[in-house]
Amino acid sequence: MQHIYDIVIIGGGPGGIGAAVEAKVLGLDKILMIEKGDNHSQTIRKFYKDNKRVDKDYKGQVIELAGSVNFEDGTKESTLNYFDELLDNDEIDTAFNSEVEKIKKDGDIFQVITSSAGYMSKNVIIAIGTMGKPNKPNYKIPPSVRQRVNFNLDKCSSGEKLLLVGGGNSAAEYAIELSKTNTVTLNYRRDKFNRLNDVNEKMLYEYDGQEKLRLRMGTDVESLENENGLVKVNFNDGYYTIYDRVIYAIGGTTPVDFLKLCGITFDENNRPEFDENYESKTKGLYLGGDIAVQSGGSIAIALNHAHHIISHILSQK
Ligand SMILES: Cc1cc2nc3c(=O)[nH]c(=O)nc-3n(C[C@H](O)[C@H](O)[C@H](O)COP(=O)(O)OP(=O)(O)OC[C@H]3O[C@@H](n4cnc5c(N)ncnc54)[C@H](O)[C@@H]3O)c2cc1C
Repeated sequence: MQHIYDIVIIGGGPGGIGAAVEAKVLGLDKILMIEKGDNHSQTIRKFYKDNKRVDKDYKGQVIELAGSVNFEDGTKESTLNYFDELLDNDEIDTAFNSEVEKIKKDGDIFQVITSSAGYMSKNVIIAIGTMGKPNKPNYKIPPSVRQRVNFNLDKCSSGEKLLLVGGGNSAAEYAIELSKTNTVTLNYRRDKFNRLNDVNEKMLYEYDGQEKLRLRMGTDVESLENENGLVKVNFNDGYYTIYDRVIYAIGGTTPVDFLKLCGITFDENNRPEFDENYESKTKGLYLGGDIAVQSGGSIAIALNHAHHIISHILSQK
């Protein structure tokens, strides 16, 4: 008979790792964490700049951790090391390079299906985050400059003239870090930032004041063109500037189609439906982490979701 897990966790970010660890600590044994990347924490690896400061109380949201994961302020590297340690110490079963395509429920058992395998489980936690699908602008990106228009920092190298677009902490932190090695302009469509934590806001204005970077506020990008292989950015104030690279840091989107294939229902505002225990309309199927918050998720919030979900699963046994 095929192995039946107590819990299959889809997504190996903070929410998924937190769930796996809490489940182990609270006595569950048959746990599998499935991650589509070749290692855990793809959002942290791909979207955090090297040496980035990682705040526990991200965006000023003070969170008291409820479970056994003792996550603290640190850097990108120390956070990844800490998660490595947790997965190693608790000997969590993991399937990397495995993208879940859908979930079906037959009787009391879920079938979790990837392109190359199928797993059976009594409970499933979906913690796939939103950064698999970064938000894109609604104007056209000319194909000839697509290599120079990015949604993370993978292709970025030092010495480039960069435009960062966005008004959140990700955009601010990218701009601050990159300004140490590049000529950076941060463009935000509003006149004032309203979603930044105090540290980032203070640093941005300081850097702008000291001309370490340039803030271009209250104007929006209208269109992009190719100018001799570089990106010509036309702003809606009538001016344009040519950049080596444009990086959008404007958040991510809930992967609605995937969630529907997993049997998640949506309300009239297109938000996934789940109750106070993060359980969807299908018993035993949970949503945690960034996909279970309307906006402003964080590592600590994802870890607390994980603790709550596992405690709820155990209370149902
Ligand atoms: C630039 C940036 C800076 C940030 N800085 C901070 C900070 O300082 N402090 C803080 O607390 N928060 C910070 N955050 C937010 C934090 O990263 C998120 O809130 C947190 O990562 C959410 O965890 P999660 O587990 O819900 O999702 P994610 O971390 O997004 O993890 C989801 C995982 O699921 C995998 N996955 C997706 N689809 C599938 C599938 N179909 N099958 C299998 N696996 C799949 C992905 O590859 C990924 O590894 C920052 C975010 C960004 C973008």
